[in-house]
Amino acid sequence: MHHDLKLDTAGGETPAFNMPHDDPDHPHSLLPSEPALRVKALETILTRKGLIDPAALDAIIDTYENKIGPQNGARVVARAWHDPAFRAALLQDADAILDEMGLNGRQGEHVVVVENTPERHNMVVCTLCSCYPWPLLGIPPGWYKSDAYRARAVREPRKVLAEFGVTLPDETAVRVWDSTAEVRYLVLPMRPEGTEGWSEDALVALVGRDSMIGTALATPASEAPA
Ligand code: FE
Repeated sequence: MHHDLKLDTAGGETPAFNMPHDDPDHPHSLLPSEPALRVKALETILTRKGLIDPAALDAIIDTYENKIGPQNGARVVARAWHDPAFRAALLQDADAILDEMGLNGRQGEHVVVVENTPERHNMVVCTLCSCYPWPLLGIPPGWYKSDAYRARAVREPRKVLAEFGVTLPDETAVRVWDSTAEVRYLVLPMRPEGTEGWSEDALVALVGRDSMIGTALATPASEAPA
């Protein structure tokens, strides 16, 4: 019985929107026109039918809004800057480290950390859809899921970086990593100059979300939040 949960259809067969992997040509371009309204409608129906508990739903939303977010990834980066042994272990086998830190949840089962150096800048994209290390960075930003970023990050990474305000020296190569459902990448940005002797806590504040995707650099020491 699903007559009161009917989706818009075209020609009676094709749903008006697809899940990301259903249609490789238009993975995100066929969303319903009023997603918020439709989500609310679904939530109401599922609650009335006793299929979901609104309190449980609130707890999940709170988790992703407030508990899981870029602050987790920033902690990992700051610790790697602060502790050379941790950094080496992280680059060698991130999963073991993240397991220990309790940062190995859903959408982050297998993570590879790639380190920026003067010779190589790393940048992450999911060309197929929007794979992203949720336990470390939270929910991906809208631009990460956009058709433009997914196509252009691979084709013209330097131009995309410039639009994000990042201009790299000519001698720095750009390496683009394509995230998948199997492997998610986290960029370890270069530690800003002038932060020698800083505590791990102070370093955390220099690690923004985009620097761990590779579309930004770490915040310079002079711009550290007070
Ligand atoms: Fe994806």
